[in-house]
Amino acid sequence: MTTAKSFDVIVVGAGSVGTPAAMSLAEAGLKVLVLDRAPSVGQGSNKRAIGGLRATHSDPAKIRLCLRSLEIFATWRDRFGDDIEWYKGGYSYVAYRPEDERTLKDLLVVQKASGLNIDWLDAPALLEVIPDLNRDGLIGGTFSPDDGNASPLLAVHAFYTRAKALGAEFRFNEIVTGLLTAGGRTAGVRTDRGEYAAPVVINAAGPWGAEVAALAGLDVPVRPDSHEGAVTEAVARFLGPMVVDIRPVAGSANYYFYQHATGQVIFCITPSPSLWGMDIRETSSFLPMVARRMVDLIPRLKNLRVRRTWRGLYPMTPDGFPIVGWARELEGYLLAVGMCGQGFMLGPGLGELVARMVAGRETANDRQTLAYLSPYREFKGQEKLK
Ligand SMILES: Cc1cc2nc3c(=O)[nH]c(=O)nc-3n(C[C@H](O)[C@H](O)[C@H](O)COP(=O)(O)OP(=O)(O)OC[C@H]3O[C@@H](n4cnc5c(N)ncnc54)[C@H](O)[C@@H]3O)c2cc1C
Repeated sequence: MTTAKSFDVIVVGAGSVGTPAAMSLAEAGLKVLVLDRAPSVGQGSNKRAIGGLRATHSDPAKIRLCLRSLEIFATWRDRFGDDIEWYKGGYSYVAYRPEDERTLKDLLVVQKASGLNIDWLDAPALLEVIPDLNRDGLIGGTFSPDDGNASPLLAVHAFYTRAKALGAEFRFNEIVTGLLTAGGRTAGVRTDRGEYAAPVVINAAGPWGAEVAALAGLDVPVRPDSHEGAVTEAVARFLGPMVVDIRPVAGSANYYFYQHATGQVIFCITPSPSLWGMDIRETSSFLPMVARRMVDLIPRLKNLRVRRTWRGLYPMTPDGFPIVGWARELEGYLLAVGMCGQGFMLGPGLGELVARMVAGRETANDRQTLAYLSPYREFKGQEKLK
């Protein structure tokens, strides 16, 4: 019998979370194996993300993680040389209804207390930042200038390249089919090609997170729902921030869009009700629905031609917050799943946190963060800025 190759830690999933986590684990000096069923890095939900990066959240845990992610994205080119198309345009949540003004202003308290650079701008001030906004009924909006955007494909590839340079091993086209245990604790994984030993296994399988957790006998409430995105032709810069409109209308909840560093406007919408399941075939209803809303908000957008649409999965949890923590039922099994619509922005900050957890170097701040994201919380609340 051949002995399984041994690692300090195995990461299931080379996506928005697993790839930067592998990089941070390798940076901590650990021997890392990453397994992915796809033929290359970032081929799950990662490449479907539109590229929005914000620390503008409604809770201290995600604000803190994303503030760190933003530092990593924003300084990447200077530190490591790869152009990940980072653009610091900020985020703006616009308000045309008093109830949205109230919600957004209420959130400023926790956002500012958590260290986020954000303010409320009244209509004239907001129009200086986004001159093309429809003025009709505009009350104002929040503006967080340090948020931005980048290319999910270029970013994940940059993390992958660095992880490999630091010694992490990646194996693609390999499906994790089982978990190995010994004496009631994690001992490695079985794949369709063989077995690998490690005392720590991290589930970073995104929309497949529940399926992979079930291999370990764990029941994790991650359920994929589908969202569509689209990209226009490239034009000269006319829009700074990502614009988010949280007004729900029949068929959709919020939608958001921004102008990428290379000139294209990239956008998506939250269907209402949610479209549960793994179906990623594009629909004919998405574009007419979102285009009407966008042109109503910024009439000038009517001149832009859409080049392509696509559909991908949000790994959703019942309360809209990620699930990150050690499994109590199985020593050595770490969950990093349920990123909802924010896995790209959470990725590098969360990757560092996961590495500190595995290396036994958690800080007091980390413990506070993890309390919000615990797999054993009650899942009763509701994220206010999904
Ligand atoms: C239209 C759209 C727009 C979005 N916009 C944004 C945005 O602007 N900003 C943002 O932060 N997020 C955005 N998201 C959400 C983001 O894409 C996800 O939250 C994120 O990609 C999830 O990361 P992950 O690492 O958990 O999953 P993934 O990136 O999907 O990685 C999981 C990996 O696990 C692998 N895997 C699964 N099962 C197995 C197995 N059994 N064996 C081996 N490998 C396996 C998969 O192949 C996959 O590569 C958007 C999503 C969509 C659909």
